[in-house]
Parts: sequence; C-alpha cells; structure tokens
Amino acid sequence: MVEAYSIPVTKIEHSRLPGVNLENIPFGRTFTDHMLEADYEDGEWKNVEIKPYQPLVINPSLAALHYGQAIFEGIKAYKNQAGEAFIFRPFDNYNRFNISAARMQMPAVPEEIFIEGMRQLIALDKNWIPAMHDHSLYIRPFMFASDEMIGVRPSEKYKFLIILAPTGPYYSAPMRIYVEEKYTRAAPGGVGQAKAAGNYGASMFVTAEAKKQGYDQVLWTDVYEHKYVQEAGTMNVFFVIGDTAVTPDLGSGTILAGVTRDSVMTILEEMGLKVEERPVSIDTLMDAYKAGNLREVFGTGTAATVSLIRELRYKDFVMSFDTAKWTVTPEIKHRLDAIREGEAADTHGWMFRV
Ligand code: PMP
Repeated sequence: MVEAYSIPVTKIEHSRLPGVNLENIPFGRTFTDHMLEADYEDGEWKNVEIKPYQPLVINPSLAALHYGQAIFEGIKAYKNQAGEAFIFRPFDNYNRFNISAARMQMPAVPEEIFIEGMRQLIALDKNWIPAMHDHSLYIRPFMFASDEMIGVRPSEKYKFLIILAPTGPYYSAPMRIYVEEKYTRAAPGGVGQAKAAGNYGASMFVTAEAKKQGYDQVLWTDVYEHKYVQEAGTMNVFFVIGDTAVTPDLGSGTILAGVTRDSVMTILEEMGLKVEERPVSIDTLMDAYKAGNLREVFGTGTAATVSLIRELRYKDFVMSFDTAKWTVTPEIKHRLDAIREGEAADTHGWMFRV
C-alpha cells in the first residue's frame, strides 16, 4: 500500500448531500459529490484525479461503444456506530478486476489507483455513507477502451473511473426463479468469469422473457446439456441439502467468483454446515427436493447480499419453499451484516478502514 500516493483533488463548491434523503434511496440513481478518473496512454496510467462528479465528453468513435472492451466492479462501504467507514474486501474485487482486464486485453490498474484512490475518494465523500441497517455506499470502479478509432483491435487508450452511490436494501422479497434451458450466459473458454459489461447486455433479453412469465430471474445452466446450474441472474447460488451447503464450483470458468460467495462459504462452515463446491445438476436438486432434503435455496451478491429463492421452476416441475421456516439463510445474512455494519468482530480481516 502506497500511503503517500498523492492524488490531486478538486472539491465541489456546494455539496448536493443536503438535498438527498439517505434513508430512502433507490439503487444506483444518486451519486456522491466526487469521482475518480484516470487515463491509460502510451503504456502508462496518468492524469489520476479526484474531481466533482460530472459528465464525460466522448467522441462517437469511442472504441468501447463499438467493440465492448468495458469491465466493472461492485463493492460496498459501511459506516459503523462510531462513524468510522470501512470497505468490504476491496482487495478481492481489485484482483477480480484485473482478471477481467486481462481476459478483455485491457491494462491492469495499479493498486495505488484502485485501492488508495478508492480510499481517498470515499474519505472525501464519507458523509454520503448511510449508517442505517441494510444501507451502504455502493462503489463502482470501471474501465473502458477510449481510443477514438473504428477498427476491431485492442484499444491503446483506456479510462478508469470510480463513482459512488449511497444505497438501501436491493431485492427484498423472496424470488421466483426460472431454470433457463434455451439461452445461456457463459461457455467454457468464454468470458463468464470476467465482469465484462457485455455479459450483462446479453442477459437482459433472457431476463425480460422470464419476467413476462412472472419470474424474477433465471437460473443459468451449462451450454452442453442445460443440466448443470451456474448462477441465478447476477448472483451466485447456494443449495442447502440436508446439513450440506452446495454451490457450483468455479472450475469451468463460466461462473463469476463472487466475493459474497466466498464470504458465505466461510460463514456456513462457522455455522457448522459442510460446504461443497462441485458441479450441481438440476436432477440432483429435484431428487433432493422430492426426498424432502432440499431445505433452502439462496443467491449471493454485493448488491443483494443474500436473496431468498422461494420457487424454482424446471420445465413443468415446480420446487417451492416456505421461506418463513428457513433458519440457515437468515442466519447467514445476520452474521454477514453484523460484520459489515461493525456489530460483530471482523475475525477474517474483511473490513478495510477508509
Ligand atoms: N455473478 C455475477 C454474474 C455477478 O454480476 C455478481 C455481482 N458482482 C455475482 C455473481 C456476485 O459477486 P459478488 O458477491 O462479488 O458481488
């Protein structure tokens, strides 16, 4: 960590915060006073600065708009009762960001820009972090190709930015999920393990189709047989079968390695459950359901934290659950929230002080 790394700061004249109600804030629409911006040119990062949140001026030939070299991350910061700010596991997101960058033939972002820049930006906009339960500051680092030239080749210039959005609870109601057999999200050798913007663009039609049928999200399956489950929308997925929590393994490179997924696996073990990362087929799930052993199903992700799944539909077979009786999922959420909101000891070193 380069503590002395100094980033020029231009402060806003009048904060917009007095006009914002942090208690009741829709996800991703309100941004804080400042942002971080940096340019990659001639093989190096330069022009790193923190400045008022403002529009970017772009040329119509901007490479990212045409060929999709664009990646992002999602991280959260919290304020504890003492008013101190902490970021949840930012180094894990930092590592994943550079994995995404490498897969998309984009330059790595150095730690002093990504981590130390994020820390300084949040320190400046600290008053924007809501301190209420289930509220946090959502952090969105992203990078895109900024060459102003048409032609399919890796860009020579890139922009890296961090913007911040105060946020409340994301998904609240337990979800109905449709097991997707026609469309797929990720194939081995593809970009499923990268947080590439195009992955999300490609998913929207499929989610919209599921929504037309009354479902909240799809459960993605493998490209060969449509039998092995991958992720639920933009969340990793867990199944509690007997006293074992099972989640699809990362082996085939088709699943995003969620930071929440990793944290939840640790918490499940602390709760005394067995945790297995392995291929999970829909047949296994249906057999467990029929035998009365499929106890709880939930998704995990930074935005949603832990989301209960009350119905899973595969072809004409519906697996439904009375989530009011669940014990494991609420306990995980409780333990994770307690660590993040500073009410439980941070025994894993997950909280990074701003
Ligand atoms: N899968 C996908 C496709 C996602 O976009 C996300 C959100 N980043 C996740 C899983 C969950 O990852 P995390 O817990 O790191 O937010």
